[in-house]
Amino acid sequence: MHSYTPEVHTTAHELAQLCLDRLAMTAPLDRSATPAELERLAGRTVTPDGLGGAEAVRLWSEVLAPACLSVDHPRYLSFIPSAPTKMAAAFDMLVGASSVYAGSWLEGAGAVYAENQALRWIADLAGLPATAGGAFVQGGTIGNLSALVAAREAARQRRGSSGARWAVCVTGETHSSVKHALRVVMDVDVIEVAGDERGRMTGAALRDTVQGLSQAAREEIFAVVATAGTTNLGVVDDVAGIGAVAREFGWWLHVAGAYGGAGLAAPSVRHLYAGVEHADSFIVDPHKWLFAPFDACALIYRDPVLGRAAHTQHAGYLDPVTVAGEWNPSDFAIQLTRRARGLPFWFSLAVNGTDAYRDAVEQTLGVARAGAELIRESGHLRLLVEPDLTVLIFERIGWQDEDYGRWGSRLLDSQLAFVTPTRHAARVCTRFAVINPMTTVEDLALIIDSLR
Ligand SMILES: *Cc1c(COP(=O)(O)O)cnc(C)c1O
Repeated sequence: MHSYTPEVHTTAHELAQLCLDRLAMTAPLDRSATPAELERLAGRTVTPDGLGGAEAVRLWSEVLAPACLSVDHPRYLSFIPSAPTKMAAAFDMLVGASSVYAGSWLEGAGAVYAENQALRWIADLAGLPATAGGAFVQGGTIGNLSALVAAREAARQRRGSSGARWAVCVTGETHSSVKHALRVVMDVDVIEVAGDERGRMTGAALRDTVQGLSQAAREEIFAVVATAGTTNLGVVDDVAGIGAVAREFGWWLHVAGAYGGAGLAAPSVRHLYAGVEHADSFIVDPHKWLFAPFDACALIYRDPVLGRAAHTQHAGYLDPVTVAGEWNPSDFAIQLTRRARGLPFWFSLAVNGTDAYRDAVEQTLGVARAGAELIRESGHLRLLVEPDLTVLIFERIGWQDEDYGRWGSRLLDSQLAFVTPTRHAARVCTRFAVINPMTTVEDLALIIDSLR
């Protein structure tokens, strides 16, 4: 099973050909399927004797792959899509074939070196100090959790464990993963600061909220989460104002930029991120708006020593890798074994250069701005929030909640687009998230027309 037989050779070539074909084309949107449909079409796939390479490849390419949506389709505008560059996607194939263990410097020095240069580019965009660093982790969820665990550990070391509760300030628009990490995983209290008219946390609102708390409640706070690009509305919190309050009270500033952090690369919106240079930790998902394949989140600490203090695992069998001074990605997050998941992003950055990234992010911003204008001028739609970045949230005037779902299903059935409903201010509406440089204004116009 582990030797390179003629059958492995044939299958590997067929798979490589499928990869090359997929890289070369704009794949159809495709569709989802019910468990019953897949049961009927694919049946039992794991058997005592095995299906053999040819049959398994057929099953994948003819039945299973078409039952997965193409997230990189230019008219896939739901959630936050993904649009890997061809170079990043191509390199991902090599990562799988290479068996690189990227948890430790000892085993993965070359990979970790390259990944760290990609992290450095991001840290420089944010204006973090030369000593800043971290690791690529699975996604924003793990990145946020790992940063907040490090923040609490730093507070514990500084203040001692008093046995009191801990708390973190967020807003109603803070991503579900942050609230889940705090409430369910960390058992930390969540203090919700009211957002402004666009859902942003401001320094003033944060200060008002904490001044309304008792001294005891205020002392439980160890961190504040500023979102740089909220998922539903695409707006950037007042990072500078929030950071000033955090410094005054001695809290950790975590800047959650899973989606919007990529905007740091775009001169036209860079001013929105003022204050990010004060972040104690920062995350951005290259698998969102930085054109890398799933799944990669760049997690960066201002002071990596604090990341290590929280996350380094100790055991006799790990002594050979727990060497002082060596950069072990496993030391910075909730993970040990690690795929070199930052390498596809690094390779594409190395090949294309950072200017191409700046231009690609600007391209999507330009399309989103033109899309916002189309919505404003449409007559049948209403833009609900003035966009900062590339998320456009809007309603169809006169529609009821259930109209959005029906329309979205029609769009997907006709393979025109994938646009799902969302909620804002307790009402159903819809949104476009534009992160794909292949998405055009004409694409948006087509979908806007379908809402008439
Ligand atoms: C997508 C997103 C997350 C979650 O990231 P995953 O990579 O899906 O785990 C967290 N925060 C924000 C702002 C996001 O947009």
